[in-house]
Amino acid sequence: MPETPLPELRHTAAHVLAYAVQDLFPDAKPTIGPAIENGFYYDFDRTTPFTPEDLERLEGRMREIVAADYPMIGREVTREEAIKHFRDNPYKLEIVEQIPRGEPITLYTIGDFTDLCRGGHAKRTGEIRAFKLQNVAGAYWRGDENNAMLQRIYGTAWHNQHELDAYLLQLEEAQRRDHRKLGAELDLFSIEEEAGSGLIFWHPKGAVVRGILEEFIREGLRERGYLPVVTPHVVSERLYETSGHLENYAQNMFGPIDVEGQRFRVKPMNCPGHILIYKSRPRSYRDLPLRYSEFGTVYRFERSGVLHGLTRVRGFTTDDAHLFCAPDQLQREFEQTLEEALRLMNAMRFEDFFCYLSTREELKRGDTDDAAEAAIRAALERSNLPFQIDEGGGAFYGPKLDINVRDAIGRTWQLGTVQVDFMLPERFGLAYRGADGRDHRPVMIHRALAGSMERFFGVLIEHFAGAFPAWLAPVQAVVVPIAEGQLAYAHESAAQLRGAGFRVEVDESNEKLGHKIRHWKTEKVPYILVAGKQEVEQGTLNVNERGVEAKRTISLASFIEELRAVVSSRG
Ligand SMILES: [Zn+2]
Ligand SMILES: [Zn+2]
Repeated sequence: MPETPLPELRHTAAHVLAYAVQDLFPDAKPTIGPAIENGFYYDFDRTTPFTPEDLERLEGRMREIVAADYPMIGREVTREEAIKHFRDNPYKLEIVEQIPRGEPITLYTIGDFTDLCRGGHAKRTGEIRAFKLQNVAGAYWRGDENNAMLQRIYGTAWHNQHELDAYLLQLEEAQRRDHRKLGAELDLFSIEEEAGSGLIFWHPKGAVVRGILEEFIREGLRERGYLPVVTPHVVSERLYETSGHLENYAQNMFGPIDVEGQRFRVKPMNCPGHILIYKSRPRSYRDLPLRYSEFGTVYRFERSGVLHGLTRVRGFTTDDAHLFCAPDQLQREFEQTLEEALRLMNAMRFEDFFCYLSTREELKRGDTDDAAEAAIRAALERSNLPFQIDEGGGAFYGPKLDINVRDAIGRTWQLGTVQVDFMLPERFGLAYRGADGRDHRPVMIHRALAGSMERFFGVLIEHFAGAFPAWLAPVQAVVVPIAEGQLAYAHESAAQLRGAGFRVEVDESNEKLGHKIRHWKTEKVPYILVAGKQEVEQGTLNVNERGVEAKRTISLASFIEELRAVVSSRG
């Protein structure tokens, strides 16, 4: 017999959980219980909060229900029967009411617990061989903050214990790497509630890493002929009327702000600004492709419920660029953005890199889409990049490519996107004079490869578990004198290292050596350089390299040479 697909198994586990809750906490009203990525949840309306001990008891009862191996029995009922069955549960009644007339209403029963459900289950409860309840969180009924606050119990379920153990281990590892936790521990960034949610304060160490990332990206842009531009943050709303953002995106835009009777907006994207620069003078086919780049800071209104550390924020900076080209240049331009993306992802040592190409079936506009899609496919094939097609998932203005990476512990993250756009050039009336002396419409490519610098940084913190490679590390080395007598030598060495372009600190504390070393290890500094009497006499340093057991004593000059090689190779 084939294994039940995980989503169905997990959803069945949600039923089992609700059964256990019915038995142990009859005052709780079950609402909904879907499968989610890696697990399931069930929302209950109950005045008393579920405690960790409650979860343990529930798990125990669930084990009994699983062991009893109840069959999952479904039956279709009339609306009246359903209403009668759920007369004490306003949530289920609301769901029943919303099922359109003529559509079947089905109830599913295991043991003596019956739930309203559309179906998609394991055949028997015994199939749930490995599960665990994880935690409880608050959740509004139907995700609406005007509704009742429910208690959501999260759990996970797998085909076998081995899979469950592997998942729990990965979860633990993910918690250890949580960028919010590491961000505070390593003093990289903070979110200050006093200033509002979803806004990131980059502390000096975080800002140093960001500066290096930006410089790395700029270097690639310069090589590929991108031109830097800088555009304003608050602009007239008319711009977004023309672009169509006001129509399609207003709910995510901050503002309007009144400026002498005119409505202004905080920019949610950089495209219109770059378009205005394109439009500021006549363009000829000889000017194309034109590539404008900007680390453009944008603000988008996200509901507080979805905000998360650096990965979902209200203000962020994208490594944005807009390419204006002739249709026959599209493929080459797309290829070079992919080369650029590869350069970035390789430097960050992501395990894997793959793309989703989203096309737009229904919104397709003439042959332009076909040509664009063909060009993107050809570019992908030439770049030898693995990709999958998501038919119909494209943006409303054209096909797009999403760049995904797999991090050090196997999680995937979506980072940048490359999008082909026929619409904005049209809306803004962009043109270039062709070789034929006539005006033509350019095609636009929007591309951000790191995506948001905030999100990218968050992903990198987790990917490296805060231990940035030497070229990215905010502090690359620390000189630690064993005693007061070596402090001057430590400062002298640090000065020479800084003079050579490195980011170096000196430990001036009065702690014992072991304590100092432990401290700098928790700071995840790549090189701890110890200076004792002998080192001072010989003009050397004792190198304690992160992740390397053996220590070695070398001259300052050879350490500088070594570090220079490591940094320049981004090793
Ligand atoms: Zn169900
Ligand atoms: Zn754009």
